[in-house]
Amino acid sequence: TDAPGVTTGPTHPSDRIDTSVAHPARRYNYWLGGKDNFQADRDSGDAMAAAFPTIRTAALENRRFLQRAVRHLAREAGIRQFLDIGTGIPTADNTHEVAQAVAPESRVVYVDNDPIVLAHARALLTSSPQGATAYIDADLRDPERILAHPDLLRTIDLSRPVGLMLVAILHFVPDGDDPYAVVARLLDALPPGSYLAASHATHDYLPPEIAREAKAASRGDGPHGLINLRSREEFVRFFDGLELVEPGVTSVAEWRADDAPQPRPSVAEVSMYGAVARKS
Ligand code: SAH
Repeated sequence: TDAPGVTTGPTHPSDRIDTSVAHPARRYNYWLGGKDNFQADRDSGDAMAAAFPTIRTAALENRRFLQRAVRHLAREAGIRQFLDIGTGIPTADNTHEVAQAVAPESRVVYVDNDPIVLAHARALLTSSPQGATAYIDADLRDPERILAHPDLLRTIDLSRPVGLMLVAILHFVPDGDDPYAVVARLLDALPPGSYLAASHATHDYLPPEIAREAKAASRGDGPHGLINLRSREEFVRFFDGLELVEPGVTSVAEWRADDAPQPRPSVAEVSMYGAVARKS
């Protein structure tokens, strides 16, 4: 009775790959110019691009935010362990590559529920010899399973600070699945000195009719396709009880973007919030 794609049984990953249904990982890969996508992903990606024409810019800027956030955590905050949930299909500069470029001993646990990401997991497991990486096939909405997973416990030490990465994943979790409780549970398992880095799609910058179209275009894809756009206020709630790192909640395009390629896109073109915060 599992919903498609959230099966956790002992099936082979390829049995779970349904190429006739759009999946966020493959659609995002399509927007980023990758090759690991199918017609259904491209159709869905084009439908969303029709409603929100700068979606490719948004995807690219989100990816750059992820990289700047990891670099900040590794370099400025001294984080050496990462839990990256919603990995995506590997592209250039994945979390472990960015972290290990700063500190080769960095240890990264990746989690995703898309079988196509699982099929690429080997590419995520090419750690520096001094560090370590692991890949767990699990659902964000099941934090207990993630936290108790032997591959996680073998790779990162939960008594030492962890950088929890929830980048462009929370908008796939509808309010009915209580994403706030999920994030609180994960943070609860991490010691003081840990960080949360997250980004999230928003309708705050869109004219109301475009926001409505964007929502409509993203519907009908089933549990894998829904985008739950959230307001700034709703995004900030994920950081309740944490100390936001400067500059606080901004567009992903503006977060510590001094060295980012110029010209910077507008906040409306990107329509994604990003922030990093510390648990004390
Ligand atoms: N974090 C990466 C990829 C974002 S794409 C980046 O920002 O570049 C979103 C990813 O989240 C996809 O790979 C998708 O498969 C995954 N995802 C969506 N819902 C999920 C869930 N409930 N549990 C685990 N992974 C999920």
